[in-house]
Amino acid sequence: MPREPETAYDETLGNKFIFVTGGVMSGLGKGITAASTGRLLANAGFDVTAVKIDPYLNVDAGTMNPFQHGEVYVLKDGGEVDLDLGNYERFLDVDMTSDHNVTTGKVYREVIEKERAGDYLGRTVQVIPHITDDIKRRIREVAEGSDVCLVEVGGTVGDIEGMPYLEALRQFAHEQDEEDILFVHVTLVPYSKNGEQKTKPTQHSVKELRSIGLQPDVLVGRCDDPLDSKTREKIALFCDVPTDAVFSNPDVEDIYRVPLVVEDEGLDEYVMSELDLAGRALPETERENDWRETVTREKDGAVSVAIVGKYGLEDAYISVHESLKHAGLEERVEVQRQWIHSEDLADGASGQLDGVGGVVVPGGFGSRGTEGKIEAIRYCRENGVPFLGLCLGFQMAVVEAARNLLGLEGAHSAELEPDTPAPVIDLLPEQKEKDDMGGTMRLGAHVTEIEAGTLAHELYDSSSCTERHRHRYEVNPEYIDDLEDAGVVFSGTSGNRMEILERPDHPYFLGTQYHPEFRSRPTRASPPFVGFVQAVVEQADLGDELTV
Ligand code: GLN
Repeated sequence: MPREPETAYDETLGNKFIFVTGGVMSGLGKGITAASTGRLLANAGFDVTAVKIDPYLNVDAGTMNPFQHGEVYVLKDGGEVDLDLGNYERFLDVDMTSDHNVTTGKVYREVIEKERAGDYLGRTVQVIPHITDDIKRRIREVAEGSDVCLVEVGGTVGDIEGMPYLEALRQFAHEQDEEDILFVHVTLVPYSKNGEQKTKPTQHSVKELRSIGLQPDVLVGRCDDPLDSKTREKIALFCDVPTDAVFSNPDVEDIYRVPLVVEDEGLDEYVMSELDLAGRALPETERENDWRETVTREKDGAVSVAIVGKYGLEDAYISVHESLKHAGLEERVEVQRQWIHSEDLADGASGQLDGVGGVVVPGGFGSRGTEGKIEAIRYCRENGVPFLGLCLGFQMAVVEAARNLLGLEGAHSAELEPDTPAPVIDLLPEQKEKDDMGGTMRLGAHVTEIEAGTLAHELYDSSSCTERHRHRYEVNPEYIDDLEDAGVVFSGTSGNRMEILERPDHPYFLGTQYHPEFRSRPTRASPPFVGFVQAVVEQADLGDELTV
């Protein structure tokens, strides 16, 4: 989104920081609250960025199991990070780097490496000041060049792992001017059995914060409904903030409406006035309105698509899920998503997939459920059902063609069947010497050249695209000619790597070795997803005509 030059990063303004902590329990959506506030500040003309602190010991999310932890989100620099960074990128419409995800693993690794190198000149290396200094340095470096930096501390106040971070934030605030820092505490306000909003959990979590020297400036109460005035007054009194610093963040049916709620509550205006930014904000009539316009668009109808994957957990494919929503916003249609366990399809896809408007086979690792994915792809290819294959889904489309069109019995990816007689998907040459699992795949943004006259060219309206990758395996060059003879068109390539495949004899059959879902935004849907949803709508319309 182009910004007015006079409102872009202003050096005289200096960086402003919003520190966001969570109370009572995790999973309250404090990241969404923070990102929504950030969206409104961006609408008002400020350059906003974010840091997500994950107090776990993993260096990054790359080695984490999506089933336990949700999707591993991939950044343009190849950083494998917590899925919350995806929400920040989607809400703020900015590209971040791995520096925006601070983990205990990263911080300790750096400090221990410096200790081994003798950089601390014989001093005892301690949590305070060495770990806290490193945390502060990381936050300052990320904030550079932005007007406002949101810093979200993952987990809940009181967690042992979070302590060094809260101490670092306390010191940070001490070193900075008062009007540069705002502490926002997001907490749960539950109902009692007799329907009363209860403030005691909030009081306790604020007490916990204050015991480590942090006084929140703003409290946001997560509740089924808006907080009533009595609840606000009580929170204000016991947590020592003005009543107008207590905000509600009630449940809404769609996370993209949270910025609208935050705006109605006036949280953005309050934040701007506390951070001394109000005078520099764009007048309300000149503020960016794309977000509101996009998320409140009327829908003309609904279509249903199936996501065939192995993790039956929405969070494991959150970016795919969101990208389908974005394409639906662009096409003005409600995209109803249905999760289908690939293991349930191994004996045949018809039945389960009958009546589904389109199928997405997303990325993944490991052999569980792959036969079901291949079955789903065969079903789509043979029945003209729109298909979108992402990374592993692209690779399985190659396996399907090799087995069922080229007659290569037992064809497979060498990842999933190392002894396959036809390894149509094989290890990338540079991967053969690697032993470490963390951060060693082909990761991050790479350019794909797109052939003119293809579906991919039409979708991107360009002869190249830059999309994010996360894979170890690729199409084995030995089989490309045969696959092309079988009707597979490799319309996008990167050097001699196959990046996009399509079938011109099909209404919509597209696979990408990369993950377009990591660049999709509510106001800028990803082209392969838009094309897919368009095809699903067209096929559904055709179906309607046929049944009339
Ligand atoms: N497991 C496959 C590979 O490493 C696909 C990875 C993915 O889907 N992200 O190449």
